[in-house]
Amino acid sequence: MKVIVTGSGTSQGIPVIGCDCAVCRSRNPKDKRLRASVYIETGRLKLVIDTSVDFRQQMLRNKLYDIDAVLFTHHHVDHIFGFDDIRQINQQQKKIIDIYGSRRTVKELKITFRYALDKELIRYKCVPIFRSHFVSGKKFKIRDTEIIPIKLKHGHLDILGYRINDFAYITDCSHIPENEFLKLKNLKVLIINALRRRPHPTHFSVEEAVNNARRINAEMTYLTHMTHDIPHNKTNKILPQNIRLSYDGLIINI
Ligand SMILES: [Zn+2]
Ligand SMILES: [Zn+2]
Ligand SMILES: [Zn+2]
Repeated sequence: MKVIVTGSGTSQGIPVIGCDCAVCRSRNPKDKRLRASVYIETGRLKLVIDTSVDFRQQMLRNKLYDIDAVLFTHHHVDHIFGFDDIRQINQQQKKIIDIYGSRRTVKELKITFRYALDKELIRYKCVPIFRSHFVSGKKFKIRDTEIIPIKLKHGHLDILGYRINDFAYITDCSHIPENEFLKLKNLKVLIINALRRRPHPTHFSVEEAVNNARRINAEMTYLTHMTHDIPHNKTNKILPQNIRLSYDGLIINI
């Protein structure tokens, strides 16, 4: 199984427009962060979690030309706004993309991308063409791959994380309900969000992410969805050995 972190940044992306802080001015490529997303390949299944605002660039940069499915965590703009570029995969690969999300997420997607439901536009293939599937708390399969949804809190909003084999992806989380920890046992790799050093009402801070990562106790944990508060090299130095910052382009083989 191969995971590529295609974006490790929070909603504004890093550098932030007009900001001249040290991280935004940094020449370290690991301090440049597109909006949060991952690409996963397992067996013959290729999928992405979320179609971030930067989806097109993320596919191009990583030379990814094909996906079968999208798993959505929630409907916030930074996680869905690249959805229109699914069109290119429809056309190049001649396939319909299966999308998975909570009932709320799929509903919000259809409101935001209302034009994609227009029969005439569908006929001329100038909209993303997809089949939607509702995800509850129960595990499901895409082809032969089992996907375990993790129910999470993002402030008051109910969102989803996903476990696939020995890998789990959690972003935009501010609280993991007690029961859900059971689904996160014996992980080889965990990716979990860490917004900034200071606490935030709807996202884990670095400290909260580290505390949750310690409890989950994956062999290796990577942090994602980071602001410009978090310089790559400096922050890695103060983190425990098996917890690192992720960065755009990071490839994890599991
Ligand atoms: Zn987000
Ligand atoms: Zn900045
Ligand atoms: Zn969000």
